[in-house]
Amino acid sequence: MSRFTQWTPYEHRVRALLPDGRTTPLPVNRTTLEDVFGVTLADEEAAARLLAAEVIETSRCNTDEVFLSSVGPRLANLFFRPYTSKMWGVDPRNLEAAVGSRLPVRLNRDDRYFTDSFQAMPSDGYASMFDRILAHERISVSLSVAYQPQLDRGYDHTFLAVPIDEYFDICYGRLPYRSIRFEHREVSEEQSAPVVNFTDSKPYTRTTQWDLISNSQKRQDGLHSCTLEIPCAAEDNNFECYYPVRNEKSLALYQQYEQLAAREPRHTFIGRTGLFRYIDMVPCVSIHLQIAARYCKEIGLHS
Ligand code: UDP
Repeated sequence: MSRFTQWTPYEHRVRALLPDGRTTPLPVNRTTLEDVFGVTLADEEAAARLLAAEVIETSRCNTDEVFLSSVGPRLANLFFRPYTSKMWGVDPRNLEAAVGSRLPVRLNRDDRYFTDSFQAMPSDGYASMFDRILAHERISVSLSVAYQPQLDRGYDHTFLAVPIDEYFDICYGRLPYRSIRFEHREVSEEQSAPVVNFTDSKPYTRTTQWDLISNSQKRQDGLHSCTLEIPCAAEDNNFECYYPVRNEKSLALYQQYEQLAAREPRHTFIGRTGLFRYIDMVPCVSIHLQIAARYCKEIGLHS
């Protein structure tokens, strides 16, 4: 990606709002345990002992079992169960284990959301980075054009990032996707972190204060631009599909669509909605480079 952007170092931090109005680091670390349980934990061993008394061993077959095995019911009820239910619109018992496994539990005081060795934001934003990727003589962009099979005419191959169930006219039934309603606000008070999560059962999941992110500019009027998120079912509102809701039932349904897709050699399904996968940015780049390389190899082109 460095061909298309300069980078500004940035390490993401998230805090969760506690019922008494304080905030505490997420993912759960030693400071979180101290804040929640009102204890002092001298070292990692003390944190490990506390957690060992909280957790319940399970077979980690779904997201709720992951929560029970990694933090136990009290922390699950505080940070994870209500948030997950409103985020996904289903009980965490009905979500594949991979969702609950996304957040680590730490015994140290590292309060970064991610521990990757390279963490940065595109210096002048994602939009500029994509503008540079698309600024190529053989790339043209048409926006707000729904996919129609006749658009394939004149092309050898089509890479489709449309929801795979919609492409096949929902013939086996609808795949569940979550979307987000975004609410923008200007506020005078600063947040305690770039993102604050609302882990209770009220509709908002989180708020982002943009000027706390390293590639953003401060406003002249001293206010802070924030965006709050309210998750919703994509199909109820005809909203964009952001998150595939992956569980046993939806994965079985997806497999049926995947079989139909396998019969279409001139189409490749890509992206979160084409592959029905919860893909983060780094795997997104690598998965699609692999897909492109495989296609180039198939047609005898060097990628
Ligand atoms: N999660 C939670 N409480 C939180 C943060 C995350 O229960 O305060 C769970 C929830 O199920 C969420 C998942 O962990 O969907 C992954 O969180 P992440 O922040 O990675 O989600 P994303 O940024 O992709 O929306």
